[in-house]
Amino acid sequence: MSENTQADLPLITALQTVLASKQIPNMLNSQQTKALCNSLNCTTIELAERMLPLAASFSFAPKSDFKVGAIAIDKQQQLFLGANYELEYGPLSGSLHAEQSAIFNALSHQADELTDLVINAAPCGYCRQFINELANANQLKVRFNQQSYDFPQLLPQSFGPNDLGVKTPLAKLELNAASQAPDFAKASYAPYTQVQSAMFAYQGDKVIAWSCYLENVAFNPSLSPLLTLLSQLTLNHLSLNNVDRFELWEHKDNRFSFKQELQNFAEHSQKPMVHHYYPST
Ligand SMILES: [Zn+2]
Repeated sequence: MSENTQADLPLITALQTVLASKQIPNMLNSQQTKALCNSLNCTTIELAERMLPLAASFSFAPKSDFKVGAIAIDKQQQLFLGANYELEYGPLSGSLHAEQSAIFNALSHQADELTDLVINAAPCGYCRQFINELANANQLKVRFNQQSYDFPQLLPQSFGPNDLGVKTPLAKLELNAASQAPDFAKASYAPYTQVQSAMFAYQGDKVIAWSCYLENVAFNPSLSPLLTLLSQLTLNHLSLNNVDRFELWEHKDNRFSFKQELQNFAEHSQKPMVHHYYPST
C-alpha cells in the first residue's frame, strides 16, 4: 500500500488480515465490512471515512493534482471505492469525478440500493446533478467534512429524470445475463437518447476493464464510457501498460457515437482500437 496511505496503520493491518492481501481493495463485500467494523470497533460510515485516503489513492489527476476519493455504500453494507480520473490531454472537461467513479463501480458490481455516499471533499454541482439521476436520490445520505446531509438538501429546486417523464431512473444495470460484448452495451442507461455503447480494454484475449454509457437528464454530467473505462482500469490496479487494445461496441442505430473520443485516446496512447456495430448487418 502506498506511502500516503500508511498513516492509519490499524486500518491497513485490519484490511490486510481480513482480505489476506496487501492490495488496496476497490470494494468490500458485506462480510468484509462486518469483519473490519468488528476489528476496528467502528460503524460502516466510520470505516468508509477512514478508507477515503485509500479511495483517493486510485486518483489520476495530472491536470488538477487534486485527489478525490469517494465511497458508495449499499443496503447490504458493501463499500465501493471511486476516485477522480483526468485525461492528460484535451479540455479540462475530460475528467470523471470520484463520486461518478464510485457509483459506476457499485453499479458494475450489481450493488443493492445505495444508501450513503462518503466523500473527502464537498461534491461539486456537476456531481450533485449526476447523483440526482439515481432512482433513490431522495433517500441517499451524503457525508463530507464530518457532516451528513440528506441528498435533497444539497440540490434544492432540482431538475431530474421526472421532469422529462422518465419513470425508471438509474438503479441497477441489466447485467444478469451479460456474456457477449453487445450485452454490456445494452446495459447502458440512456433513457433520453436510447444510445447503447460499451468499451472494453483487452490484455491478450482477456477483458481487464469495461464500461458502458450512463446518461444524465442534463447531459453534461453523463458518463463518458472512455473515462469510466480508464477509471475502472485504475481501480483494478492496472494501467495503460496492461492494455493491448481497446474495443468499442455500439448499436448501429445510435444517434451519436463515441468512436472519435476513443480514436483520439487510442492514438494518444498508441494502442489499437476496434469499432464494432451490432446487430451485424
Ligand atoms: Zn464532482
